[in-house]
Amino acid sequence: MSRSSVPGLRVCQPRACSRSTLAGHTADQLVERAIDDFAATVDVPRARLASAVRHHHFHDYRADPCARGAYSYTRVSGTGAAEGLARPLGGRLFFAGEATNADYEGSVAGALASGARAAREVLRMSRRA
Ligand SMILES: Cc1cc2nc3c(=O)[nH]c(=O)nc-3n(C[C@H](O)[C@H](O)[C@H](O)COP(=O)(O)OP(=O)(O)OC[C@H]3O[C@@H](n4cnc5c(N)ncnc54)[C@H](O)[C@@H]3O)c2cc1C
Repeated sequence: MSRSSVPGLRVCQPRACSRSTLAGHTADQLVERAIDDFAATVDVPRARLASAVRHHHFHDYRADPCARGAYSYTRVSGTGAAEGLARPLGGRLFFAGEATNADYEGSVAGALASGARAAREVLRMSRRA
């Protein structure tokens, strides 16, 4: 398996995500804890799992003033909202982000798919220019 095809793993358990249990831990400590939890969950030896970790990134959504601990969800009668948010403006401004993906909104999968979609839109537009 090439490095680029190694799957990513996002670990966020409700208990581990509460402010009191995360408070005071460094990103490295949280990664160790995530490996502990995930190894126990999937019943894989911890050392094996830990040796497979190539990179980690920690982001505190609660402390991020632009996210404030939230992500999008569609309210009743909100069908079509994601498509509306994804619509380019003036053929020059393109939008990505989980809220623009109706299939997987509120998830990393939706964010990734929306980025690929927006990139295709930009390429299509630049070929026309
Ligand atoms: C608590 C929590 C738990 C979650 N758990 C899961 C999970 O288990 N599985 C899963 O698949 N998804 C989960 N998600 C959702 C997932 O994290 C998001 O859907 C995904 O990160 C969205 O990616 P994005 O690139 O669209 O937006 P983001 O990751 O939010 O990135 C947007 C970035 O833009 C920045 N930004 C915003 N406004 C501005 C501005 N005006 N100027 C400059 N920068 C700006 C923000 O700071 C942020 O860094 C969770 C989200 C939260 C909050």
